[in-house]
Parts: sequence; C-alpha cells; structure tokens
Amino acid sequence: MSFYQKYRPKKIKELDLVAVRDSLASTLKSGKISHAYLFVGPRGSGKTSTARILAQIVNCENNQDKKDNLEEPCGKCDSCLSLIGGSSVDVIEIDAASSGLVDDIRDLREKVRLAPVQLPKKVYIIDEVHMVSTAGFNALLKTLEEPPKHAIFILCTTEAQKVPETIMSRCARVNFTKATDKEIIGSLMKAVKGEKLDIDEDALREIADATDGSFREGHKLLEQLAAYGKTIDAGLVLEVLGIAGRVTIKKLLEAAIKRDTGKIVKIFEEMEKGGIKAQVLASSLLSEVKILLEDSLERGSLVKDELKLIDELIEATDKIKVSPLPLLPLEIALLTLAIDESGGATSPKVEAPAQPKEKTKEIINVNTESTITGENETDKSNVVVQNYDGPLVSIDRIKTEWMDFLNVMSTSCGSLAGMLRLVSPVDFKGKSLTLSVTSRFQQDMLERDVKKKLIEEQMAKIWGPMTFKCVLGEKEPVRTAPELQDLNVLPVNDEETEDKGIVSAAEKIFGS
Ligand SMILES: [Zn+2]
Repeated sequence: MSFYQKYRPKKIKELDLVAVRDSLASTLKSGKISHAYLFVGPRGSGKTSTARILAQIVNCENNQDKKDNLEEPCGKCDSCLSLIGGSSVDVIEIDAASSGLVDDIRDLREKVRLAPVQLPKKVYIIDEVHMVSTAGFNALLKTLEEPPKHAIFILCTTEAQKVPETIMSRCARVNFTKATDKEIIGSLMKAVKGEKLDIDEDALREIADATDGSFREGHKLLEQLAAYGKTIDAGLVLEVLGIAGRVTIKKLLEAAIKRDTGKIVKIFEEMEKGGIKAQVLASSLLSEVKILLEDSLERGSLVKDELKLIDELIEATDKIKVSPLPLLPLEIALLTLAIDESGGATSPKVEAPAQPKEKTKEIINVNTESTITGENETDKSNVVVQNYDGPLVSIDRIKTEWMDFLNVMSTSCGSLAGMLRLVSPVDFKGKSLTLSVTSRFQQDMLERDVKKKLIEEQMAKIWGPMTFKCVLGEKEPVRTAPELQDLNVLPVNDEETEDKGIVSAAEKIFGS
C-alpha cells in the first residue's frame, strides 16, 4: 500500500485542507447532507478520500436516527467495517476516465432505483466526471432530476468548466484548492510518524515546495526518499528527487551575496547530478530574490545586490533555451554577482558608494599623464575625451590599458566588469573595437543595448567615442548578413539556428 493510501484521512476532522474540513464539519453539525455533491479541485487534493469518508458518515449506524450533529464514522459498526474493507456493493466508485462509461451510467440509471442491499444509503462516487460523454451526462441528469431518497452522488472533477451547467446546478459544490506548504507538511507528518522516519525540517519544506499543492505528490516523494533509509535530509532530497527547493535556493543566494564562488560551483555540481530543471530553478531563484528584496526594503537596507541579481537572473533565464548546458546561464548569473567586488559581505556595503567617483578620476588622471605629456590641470576628464578621440588610440594601447578600463568599469558596474574580465581586445579599426569572447552567452550579455551603451560610455572616458563588437573565441565571427545572402539559404538544422545573431541577420535580409 502506498503512503498516500495508507495515511489518507479517515475522518472529516483529519482532512488536510483546512477550508474543506471546516465546511464539511459544519455540514455534519447541521445534518444537511445534499443528495448530490460536486467536488472540484486539482489532482491529489483529497477529493476521493473525502468522498469515501462522506459515504461512511451517511451509512454509519451511529448516524441513522440523527437529524443533525452527525458523527464521524465510528469505524467499528458493520457498515463502517464493510466500507473500510471495500466489500460493500452499495458504494459504487466509477472512474469516468476509463472506457465503457456510457453503459455504466445507463446501467446506473436503472440500478439506482433499486434499494441498497446492505447499507442504509447507496453512494455513487464518479471520478473525473468531466470525461463523461454527452449521452452519459443526459442519463446522469435524468437521475439527478429525480434522485431516489436512498442515493447520494459525489461527482469529482479536476475540470469543472467541462461539466454541463445543468449537472452543476443540481449539486452542492465543494472546492478543493491546492494545499499550502503547511497543509502538505501536516499531511506528510502522519507518514513520518507512522513510518518512524527521521527527517529534518528543511527536507520536509523542500518536499512540500516541490509538490505543487498535491498531497498525493507529497506522499509519493516522501515514499521515494524513504526507500533510501529512515534518515532524510535536504541533501538527499536534492540528490534523489532532483528538487532544488527553498533551502537550497537560499543557500545559493547566500553564497552569491557573500561572494562565495566555491560554494556556488559546488551546489551547481550537485544540481547537475540531480538533474534539476533550469526553468524551474530560475523561477524559484527569482521568487526568493524577490522576497529578499522586499525584506531588505522593509528593513531599510541597501538593495543593490538584490536588484543586480534580479537583472542577471532575468537575462540568464532567456539564455536557458539556447544553452547546451541549461543550468550554466544561471550559474554564471550568480557567479557574476559573486565576483563583483563592489559590494557583498566581505566589504561593508555602506562604504561602497563614496569611493567610485574618486577612483574613476584617479585612473583617468593616470592615463592623461601617461599619454599626453605636459597636459594637466583644469578639467581632466574632458581633456581625456577630446584628446583621445583620434588616431592616437591603437589596439596596442587598448591592450595595455585594458586593466585600467576594467577598474573604471568595476566602480560603476561591477557585474559588467566581471563579464569583461573574461574577454580580450583583439582589433581596433575605425573607432570600432573587436573583443574576443569565450561564449555566446557572454557575447549576448555584453551586446545587450543597455549594457553595450554603458560599456561604450566608459570606454569613451578613456579612449574617446567608440563602439565595440564581440567575436566568439579564435573562430571566425558569427556569419554576417551579406555572407548569408551569398549562400542564399537560411541555416536550417544548423546549431546556430536559434541563435539571436542569425535571427537578426535573417531579419536584416528579409526585413522584420
Ligand atoms: Zn460506524
């Protein structure tokens, strides 16, 4: 027997969905049991379990002479025992998703008239009722229009919109929502106790986080983990289930903010092994940064890191689809923050804003003196721009001064400087600088409009107005528009098909 079956609730007060529990508890109190219910809610939210409890309540011997204050099933009388054992012919479960259903429903229409054999009430539980055919619904409707006193219908569905209005209007509707993490953990704890598992709170939260509000899914995951032994921690969850839940997410973000690159790399290695889905990880990371951001704003702390992370993560999410290693863009996004020296736990955040301007000036001054002898005094930053706009700038000079440029960059935009540390200047012609990058991801990052503008502004401060473009590694640059035109074909089945460079090249040819 699976955990989900073994530990499913047996009484209304044991139901894990608080809203459903409270609403049915008041139904018991009033004694007003409807002749037809429509249970609506996602898979694994406990609809069938609840239907079975209700079937027991209306049949339990303790409730037969009562008009109100109905009791939970006693679990001991003959009715209860026959239902627990599943041997009663008077509680009929039909799965509408299986075939031969129209016949089932027609059959039901005939048989529902007959009095129950053993129990006081006949209960029909129809699962996935939205799958019933039109003919089936018509038969069902006729039955619901004149329901015999001895029958109760409980229709369950995940898709209420597919159930005809005529059927819906004859049912008391009970909404089963997705369970909250707290409700899932409450449900899982029954199995934890029953199976004597030693599980830490982090691991429980990781599981709850991964279930998407389904009790069934939660128990399934717990059962998978329990197969590895009685002791379960968050590390095992990551390894076995391939889930990066809140605990792992928090560790990752903490490492990025503390500038702990080693830890980031290590966690990503584990996630690689666990087969973590990059898209899921991306949205988990973003939601968690959002919480961090809100917390920081509330406390009045600086939010520079949080904003930068959000920016990096959103850009990285775009890259997941085109990256042969889907987790890599996210890893780079976190590492980009971690190698940014302008903030973080290692250097006090408060001091950061005061420094940059002076540092920038200083570097520019050095450059001024090293290349234009005799020029000094007055407004040097202006001098720089005016005088360095011309043939004086060569690729050799850019190479020599590259580190200075990176220092200027790191004071104004640390994450970009981090990115630029991994590229090298290779050519300079007609005020256009060519940079060699090691990955397409880097290229896309640096050539984004906003970032490109920022970088070029900083370059202008040292070498005068100029632009730059990136080429990939030692190889030939990505094919350009004219070359494509020569070939007169689109690069179908080419690994670069999805690449933005090619897309924009194609747009240039065909117009967009
Ligand atoms: Zn009973």
